[in-house]
Amino acid sequence: MIAQRVQSFGTTIFSEINTLAQQYNAVNLGQGAPDFASPPLVLAALEKALHTPHHQYAPGWGYPQLQEAVADHAKRFYSMNVDPTREVLITVGATEGIFSTMMGLINPGDEVIVFEPFYDSYVPSITMAGGVPRYIPLHPPEWQFDRDELKSLFSERTRAILLNTPHNPTGKIYTRDELEFIAELCQKHDVIAVTDEVYEHIVFDGCQHIRLATLPGMEKRTVTISSLGKTFTVTGWKIGWTIGTNPLVTGIFRARQFISFAVASVLQWAAIEILQAPDSYFVELQEIYWKKRDYLFHSLQETPLKPLLPQGGYFIMTDTSALNPENDRALAEYLIKEIGVACIPPSAFYSDAHRFLARHLARFSICKKDDTLHTAVERLKGLR
Ligand code: PMP
Ligand code: GLN
Repeated sequence: MIAQRVQSFGTTIFSEINTLAQQYNAVNLGQGAPDFASPPLVLAALEKALHTPHHQYAPGWGYPQLQEAVADHAKRFYSMNVDPTREVLITVGATEGIFSTMMGLINPGDEVIVFEPFYDSYVPSITMAGGVPRYIPLHPPEWQFDRDELKSLFSERTRAILLNTPHNPTGKIYTRDELEFIAELCQKHDVIAVTDEVYEHIVFDGCQHIRLATLPGMEKRTVTISSLGKTFTVTGWKIGWTIGTNPLVTGIFRARQFISFAVASVLQWAAIEILQAPDSYFVELQEIYWKKRDYLFHSLQETPLKPLLPQGGYFIMTDTSALNPENDRALAEYLIKEIGVACIPPSAFYSDAHRFLARHLARFSICKKDDTLHTAVERLKGLR
């Protein structure tokens, strides 16, 4: 008999769609995993790291040199002053950072406010910690939230609010005004903010990614989570970090030490050098994804799928109502089996009560070779 806490989980939508895509030989614009090579600077750093002696257990908080590289990155891009040894915890990707944060900071019965749609690991992380998720929907096409509704969710039971910017699956980037509104509520109700910023360097149209932790009054009550995966095209490495003041990060560390104890040593060693990539690297990364976003967005406009313009991240959300599908899963299956293109049905990113909101949505990845995107587009043009 499996434990109650995991009984409702099932298989993640990413594994499910990957299997189906493979079975039907569909072009896979589902999971956000690049199908092109990692950049030369990444591979060169790994090669060097292989020849260091760092192949045994790393320190529990991560190598001090990597903690320092993460603090330097926060200084360089966000003018944050982070104490590397006390305020940076290295994790097995952002996913472990999110899980450990919930385990380390949430008590049974504590409420955690989550914007919906949400990345699929958030709710299991909250519930496994005994927390109670409270949902605030983002409304298409701009993916705004109702401020009064958000206000009404804050109470003495609220311990944390979890937000993701740039956002998966919508591509929304929270504006300064929205973040200020959230910051004010956090301070008024003594709530901590947990931010997932894994797409921090993939932003379009001159939009600015703002760290909630940099807003007045938020430094001490924000846990900032990110990882190497998207920025350096190494989603399989699972090297992440969590930044925050104490005692928050110490709480997260206490949980983390008994989840994985330490993070892959040789990859951490490579990450130290990778995080010091020149500014030109980050500019080029944006250009590459911006072009892919534009290509897929404009191409999708020639199909019955109505794309909603993302401001950042790996994905384009589309409005599928012109096809009037039974629901998003039925459409995703149809696209794989009959059209030969895989996407993610976004209902996986909604609570049971709000799953109907995803009925006419489909998410497509842009993080694919131009050839892959082109083949997918040619097939999607056959949609009626
Ligand atoms: N957060 C979001 C919003 C994501 O899309 C992903 C997907 N990779 C993750 C976290 C997981 O990041 P990591 O691979 O570093 O665990
Ligand atoms: N973040 C990726 C996505 O949203 C997938 C990560 C995973 O497979 N868990 O597609």
